[in-house]
This record gives sequence, structure tokens and C-alpha cells, in this order.
Amino acid sequence: MTSQKRPATLLPETYIDDHSDETNTEWEKITQDSVVFERECIEDDLTEQKRVILLQENPSSRSHCRYWSCVPTKLNGEPNIRSAFRFNLKDVSGRYYEPNQYYHVSCLEQIYPDLGALVERGAMKMEGGVNHLNSASWKLSRFHNAIEDWFRYNGRTFEVKAYDRFQREHANWDRKASTMEIKHQLNTHGGSSKNCEKCGEIPDEPLRRDYFPEEPRSKLLSEVLASVIGVPNLDEVDGSLNTHCGKKIRRR
Ligand SMILES: [Zn+2]
Ligand SMILES: [Zn+2]
Repeated sequence: MTSQKRPATLLPETYIDDHSDETNTEWEKITQDSVVFERECIEDDLTEQKRVILLQENPSSRSHCRYWSCVPTKLNGEPNIRSAFRFNLKDVSGRYYEPNQYYHVSCLEQIYPDLGALVERGAMKMEGGVNHLNSASWKLSRFHNAIEDWFRYNGRTFEVKAYDRFQREHANWDRKASTMEIKHQLNTHGGSSKNCEKCGEIPDEPLRRDYFPEEPRSKLLSEVLASVIGVPNLDEVDGSLNTHCGKKIRRR
């Protein structure tokens, strides 16, 4: 009787040979239970320990993902987070022995289907930003604008390409316009800008609204981050899966 309480051992053969519907449902239930369990643990940490989920740049591969059903851990055989970004369920009070609890961004996306809601209620933030504005480190924008906007609009942002294009063309315009203005002042006003009422032909400044015409769209943070650093998958989940499958096929 007691053995029935334990989760069923799921060998690959079992669910290939069996009626896959039944066993898949069982497996989905176990996975779903682990999601709910993990979410409850995180909720406790957020409310009782007053922890905050911080998006951080990941400087090394030493941090471990705590999620029980972590897919990268299952594929790589180790829980190390090797991605460029990670989440830290951080104790900001300094009261707890273990102040840092790390997660893959994609793992937290499985635990919380809507990360934007966490941002909205103030439980999820970018590391740095306004909190770190002091004389020692004065840095306003720490992350790519697409990431900053994702936090500003609670899970919605624009295409990373749009930000990059606007920034590039605005920088080009800035350079071109200032050169033309200097030339114009030298040639027409003898080097002074006093008498110039914008009588020269300076090109129009690129406007933000021409590059971002629509409302920001709801996006997965892991996809925004992957796009910012130019990789197909932030936590290389799909990449690893493909390599894994490829090896299997070659062996046959
Ligand atoms: Zn993970
Ligand atoms: Zn002029």
C-alpha cells in the first residue's frame, strides 16, 4: 500500500510500450505538481523572507539552478547555469544564511507562465538600475533598452532589431548633423551660431515613433535576452536537445 504513494518510475520503455496517453498524463501530472510545489516555495520566499527576483548578468558558470525539473540540468547532467543571464531569488535583508538562490531564466518561465505579473507586483526587478545609483557606481542604463522596456511595460517590449536600428540611425544622424552645422556656421555665419535661425539644411532627426510605431508586444524574457546577445536560445535548451538527438541518429 505504501509503495503506491510513491511516484511511478518512468523508464522510457514503459511509456513507449504502454498506452502512451495514460502514462503521459501521469508524467504531466508529476511535472505539473513540481511546478506548483516550486512556485509555492518561491511565493513563501517572496512574502515571508521578503526576497526579490533579480535579473542578473551571469559572470561565471558556478551558480546552480535550484529548479527540481530543470531541463538544462537533465540534458547536461549538471545544474550549472552557463547562460549570459540568470535569475537570483535574492535576500536583500541580509538576514539569511543563503542569500542567493539561482534559476535559469527559462526555468522560471516554466514555474511562472506570466513573469510580467511578477514585475507588476514588484517581485521581479533588474539588478542595478535606480537601486545602485550612488557616487560609487553611477550607471543609469545597465541593460539593453529592449530589456529595460520589458520591465517598464510588465512583460511587453519591442523587437530588439528596432532598438538597434533606431540607435544606429540616430547616431549616424547626430554625427552628420553636427558636421553639417559646423560647416554651415563657418561658411554662412563666419563660425558663429548667433545669427543662425536653422537656415541651413540639416536633415531631420530620426523620430522614435517612426521606429516603434505600435504598442509594445508581450514577449518571453528568455527570447528577448537571447535576441540581445544574438543566440537562438538563452539557456541552449533546444540546442542541446538537437545535439543529443543528432548523436543518437549517427550511432544507428
Ligand atoms: Zn534550470
Ligand atoms: Zn544659418
